[in-house]
Formats: sequence, structure tokens, C-alpha cells
Amino acid sequence: MPGDTDAATQLPAIEGWWSADESGAPHLIGGKCTKCATYVFPPRANNCPNPACDGDELAQVPLSRRGKVWSYTENRYAPPPPYPSPDPFEPFAVAAVELADEGLIVLGKVVEGTLAADLKVGMEMELTTMPLYTDDDGVERLTYAWRIA
Ligand SMILES: [Zn+2]
Repeated sequence: MPGDTDAATQLPAIEGWWSADESGAPHLIGGKCTKCATYVFPPRANNCPNPACDGDELAQVPLSRRGKVWSYTENRYAPPPPYPSPDPFEPFAVAAVELADEGLIVLGKVVEGTLAADLKVGMEMELTTMPLYTDDDGVERLTYAWRIA
């Protein structure tokens, strides 16, 4: 979990999608088929995504922290409830990043301050985390995000 000292004030928005090592560097958690080694994100325990495989057991594995931009876009409209959104709404970029080792494309928000005009297909990206919203208990909920490496 990110920064033990902040454990009481910062938590993942969704449990089990990413974790961080002792230095605080986050990585995504994927599922890997124990039969054909196909990866999937978000992680799940069963049902291999490879249509040619009847494997039904996926192990939880850390995914590469870096990948290359496969595609991207910019969201200029606030998502409808129940999705948390800052008020006033700020446009943000979304990138589909291809992890070379896993052959997996992971869609994620891009950090604040980086918009579509700053991105290019093939650009090297690195995983980080960013605040998504603050919950009713005052806990800052974090999500994974991409930043230019
Ligand atoms: Zn499989």
C-alpha cells in the first residue's frame, strides 16, 4: 500500500487492482492464466480471456510498470453520477497503454497537467497513482494513472 504513514488517510479507490512496493512505486495487478499464460486486467480468478484456451484458473501477478501509448483521448465532459468527479470539472486525458512484456493494453487516466496534445502514440508511459476523490470518512481514495516516463 502506498506510504505506510499515510495508511489511515489514503486508500485505493478499488481494492486489488494495484499495489506498491516498499519504495512506494505502484504496479498493477493482473490475472495470468496458469495454462496458456495469457494476461488480463483488471484481475480475475477464473475464465481465461484467450478464446483458444479452456483454462479456468488465473494467478494474480504484478504487471510491468511501463508501456507505450497505443491510443489516447481526452475527456471534456464530467462523467454522470455515481462516478466521482471534481467540481468544477477539469478535462483529463485517458491513455490505452500497451505493456510490452504482457501484450496487454491497459486503459487509465493520465495525470493532471498532461492532456491529449501532450501525448503521442508510441510514447513511453509509467504507472503512478493520483487522488480520485475523498470519501465520506475524509479518506483520500487513489486510483492508478499513467504519466509520461
Ligand atoms: Zn488460458
